[in-house]
Amino acid sequence: MCDKEFLLLSDIQLIFVILPFHLRIMEMEFGGGKRYNSYSSYIKTQFDERVQKVSLDTGFTCPNRDGSKGVGGCTYCNNNSFNPNYCKPTVTITDQLNTGIEFFSKKKKPINKFLAYFQAYTNTYADIELVKELYLEAVNHPDIVGLVVGTRPDCINEDLIQFMSDLAKEYYVSLEFGVESTLNRTLDAINRCHTFEETKEAYQLSKDRGMHLGAHMILGLPGESREDILGHVYELNKLPIHSLKLHQLQIIKHTMMAHQLKKEPEMFQLFDMDEYIDLITEFVARLRPDIVIERFISQSPAHLLLAPHWGVKNFEIVDKIEKRLREKDYWQGKLYKEEVIAGV
Ligand code: SF4
Repeated sequence: MCDKEFLLLSDIQLIFVILPFHLRIMEMEFGGGKRYNSYSSYIKTQFDERVQKVSLDTGFTCPNRDGSKGVGGCTYCNNNSFNPNYCKPTVTITDQLNTGIEFFSKKKKPINKFLAYFQAYTNTYADIELVKELYLEAVNHPDIVGLVVGTRPDCINEDLIQFMSDLAKEYYVSLEFGVESTLNRTLDAINRCHTFEETKEAYQLSKDRGMHLGAHMILGLPGESREDILGHVYELNKLPIHSLKLHQLQIIKHTMMAHQLKKEPEMFQLFDMDEYIDLITEFVARLRPDIVIERFISQSPAHLLLAPHWGVKNFEIVDKIEKRLREKDYWQGKLYKEEVIAGV
């Protein structure tokens, strides 16, 4: 439209012309033709080539396992459900990295850059000098370009954050907190042994320190309604996070939840795939648009998974989520704006 035509429009016409254009711009802001801020697009902005995470196991434990805060760990947790076979705490970090890198180097598309992913258990829960030593061992590996550290919000302190912040001047450093729920009653029920207030404090301590800050959430924890789950978005939007991993509750063998499912199945309302896809689209539409979505779902190895069984591959579910976003004409943050205006 030329300027001359534009000037002839009345105010009402302007609203109709500008608003759809404005909305289209919002959609187009996301890379890769997606309706959400995808991790793959984000990674491309950080590195010029493909980067692969290599999972590591330090052999640390957790304060809700070793008795300092609790025993038994989180009721859903079985670290074997996500730990690759080569991750053995008896093997050095360098050897674990070498094995992981060798595995990924055999893939069709060669990868040259890797992130050391401290994934299993609580990766900041040990003597601080040991933690620093292991992180340094990882970044000193010639193929490693950065660190991704998963931990609990109650297991960090200023000394460690300063150390990681200093590393972030030279390397990519991502610190991911297991948030899991913003409701203390849920955190209590799943034996997390920390509160959502501690989560907020952890982000306050870590923000603006040069690190990428991530959050991990499980959708469908016992006792949480659809409204509770959508309420998490509002709390997440207020955190200084850069990225978010979401996944559906899965009941894994050899966990407390496996036992609970057998004894008290009414505790659980596990999503069927279609319900979950619908919920995710509502979640995404309310999410702050700058937050990178790293994951929508997770599927544990079949031999460990008790429920739910969806029988489709992860990428097929992501395709279905993208299709549902298009059908609803939703995109990330579409309803976030409305929330701000309504002051919800
Ligand atoms: S989920 Fe994390 S904090 Fe909870 S028991 Fe498992 S490793 Fe520990």
